[in-house]
Amino acid sequence: MIKRFIRRVFGLSATAPLLVPRERHGLRREALSHGALKVCDVLRDAGHAAYVVGGAVRDLLLEIVPKDYDIATDARPEQVKPLFRRALIIGRRFRLVHVMLGQETVEVSTFRAADANTAERSEHGRVLRDNVFGTQEEDARRRDFTINALYFDPATEQIIDNHGGLADLKRRVLRMIGDPATRFREDPVRMLRAVRLAAKLGLSIEAGTRAPMRKLAPLIEHVPPARVFDEMLKLLMSGHASACVRQLREEGLSKGVLPLLDVILEQPLGERFVTLALAQTDERVRTERPVSPAFLFAALLWHEVLAASKARQAKGERPLPALEAAMDRVLDTQCEKLALTRKLTATMREVWAMQPRFEHRGGQRPYRLLEAPRFRMGYDFLEIRAASGEVNPELEAWWRAFQHADAETRKAMLLPDSGPRKKRRRRRKRNEVAEPGPEQA
Ligand code: ATP
Ligand code: MG
Repeated sequence: MIKRFIRRVFGLSATAPLLVPRERHGLRREALSHGALKVCDVLRDAGHAAYVVGGAVRDLLLEIVPKDYDIATDARPEQVKPLFRRALIIGRRFRLVHVMLGQETVEVSTFRAADANTAERSEHGRVLRDNVFGTQEEDARRRDFTINALYFDPATEQIIDNHGGLADLKRRVLRMIGDPATRFREDPVRMLRAVRLAAKLGLSIEAGTRAPMRKLAPLIEHVPPARVFDEMLKLLMSGHASACVRQLREEGLSKGVLPLLDVILEQPLGERFVTLALAQTDERVRTERPVSPAFLFAALLWHEVLAASKARQAKGERPLPALEAAMDRVLDTQCEKLALTRKLTATMREVWAMQPRFEHRGGQRPYRLLEAPRFRMGYDFLEIRAASGEVNPELEAWWRAFQHADAETRKAMLLPDSGPRKKRRRRRKRNEVAEPGPEQA
């Protein structure tokens, strides 16, 4: 009782010991990357505190190889930089140091405090600025989840656990530090992080943390689109995209992020298509094959493009102009929320615009399509369309055979050219499609 009171007075967590020796958590300094270890040792030799913190400690304790290492220290950026040969101070809002060691980049940030009283906020309670340096304990308190606030000291192999993160990790629970609703209001992206981390690490979101999410989901709409895009990309490329998207829907979060996704997933064909595309992406990530973000977003939005295009055709518009207009509409709507980059949308358009071209299997057209710069991506897309039942599987089988066949076989495979006669080509003004097919003339 008294002990608890004292801990409370000093702002310490009531649930966990503060300093946990190696015997009780099992993490050794040798488990760290060369760069992380070096940075901590150098900082310590210069008289500073230095801890590995955040995702790296969490992942190592779960026996997952960390993506990257974050170091937290009491040294200021301008004290950190001169200690290393290759180091850069970056960031305007909060300055941190990137230390480059060989291939590795280690991020070093100075302890900071999220002072609830001085932080600048938006009308919805979102924290716009919180750039005061602080103590280790304050630094722990401003982090999002208990399992992300474990500080490993390589010199002593002790972990500072201010918020009971070790116990939560053991129970596989994702718990917000502090009052969940307040913390989600400060930064609604934490809701997306919760879903991503839970899906990636197989954790359950603690009931109190989960409770306010549905109600606060609309706040994501006020987050700058570029940040939502970054987080969505992380989520989709996590190797657990299927699970993440399912959970986003369960928590009522998908509307703010991919406003069209719910509509798409309610149509049986759309659901099958998106499910297949996500499953394929997860498989590629897990087997370390490259994944294209453009392909993913093109897949997520395809049925929306199809629906818009069909609606236009029903009003008498010709198929290709209808498709073009549908692509514009969908991308305009989506870019407001997600800040898709121009490079990304250009590729998405190429993949979409290529789809009708697969229907022409006579004359020179299939040969020209094979030469298109994004043919492979376009074909992979066709494969999912066929597997989801949107197009005849025979069409996909034909293209699969055609692309690998020798010249003679290809010639024999061609079907009678049934498309409209080729007319004089005219350049379209607003055409962003790299290689317009002759059918677009
Ligand atoms: P991963 O690297 O697997 O995506 P991570 O938890 O390391 O997961 P980062 O974005 O690298 O995620 O962030 C590093 C650490 O910074 C987190 O572990 C957490 O302590 C803190 N952090 C990141 N984003 C937030 C946020 N929105 N609010 C509070 N703390 C955050
Ligand atoms: Mg990280």
